[in-house]
Amino acid sequence: AKPDWLSRALARAGAFPLAEAEEAIRAGRVTLNGRVVDQPLAPVPEGAVIRVDGAELAREVETRVLAFHKPADLLTSTVSQHRTGTVYEVLLPQLPDELSRYTWHAIGRLDRGTTGLLLFTNDEKLVAHATSPETHLPKRYVATVQGTADESKVEPLCRGVMLEDGPTRPAKVKLRDAHTVEVTVTEGRHHQVKRMLGAVGLPVRALHREAVGGVELDVAEGTFRQLTPEEISLGL
Ligand code: URA
Repeated sequence: AKPDWLSRALARAGAFPLAEAEEAIRAGRVTLNGRVVDQPLAPVPEGAVIRVDGAELAREVETRVLAFHKPADLLTSTVSQHRTGTVYEVLLPQLPDELSRYTWHAIGRLDRGTTGLLLFTNDEKLVAHATSPETHLPKRYVATVQGTADESKVEPLCRGVMLEDGPTRPAKVKLRDAHTVEVTVTEGRHHQVKRMLGAVGLPVRALHREAVGGVELDVAEGTFRQLTPEEISLGL
């Protein structure tokens, strides 16, 4: 693990948001191995004991995961562009104090127009694991397509199709009706589902994500809920 600097260590442990952590450090409220350190960028050696106002900081942070129902027309990005807002601008103001102390990271991305389940976590290791190409975490989407879908059109997706950046892994595909296709992929390439359906002659008009791993979308659009530890350990 790369060494943290002091303000990040406080933020990561959920003691404060980063900016407040810096203030607390500058105010002399934080000790590192028993000595006051007032530099937010001071490196934190492996195994160091950090105290805030005399209370020891628990360094092992509990992994938290939020299931957010992303509305359309929001970017999965920390910066808004061309007046398009971000998922963080909608999610963060809803968080109770207990959750707003953490720094949240989206697990993967959804395109601006795509709706549905987007997970967030305070645990960067979980982001790395869940989005690693080796993990093959299944993601289930429902696409509304232009043109008429039938078994023969979607069948190649079950074997894998060739895209510009290489062949796709086999997907699970179900026709819900002639314009609605359920696709479960175990990769997360840029615009992947749109490109896969485009490759079989079914351009996507709307895309919605229903599930990630064992986690099913079950909250109203624009809202979130926190997953239980069981859901995290079984679902991701
Ligand atoms: N595939 C896409 O094409 N878009 C998404 O947002 C997610 C998967």
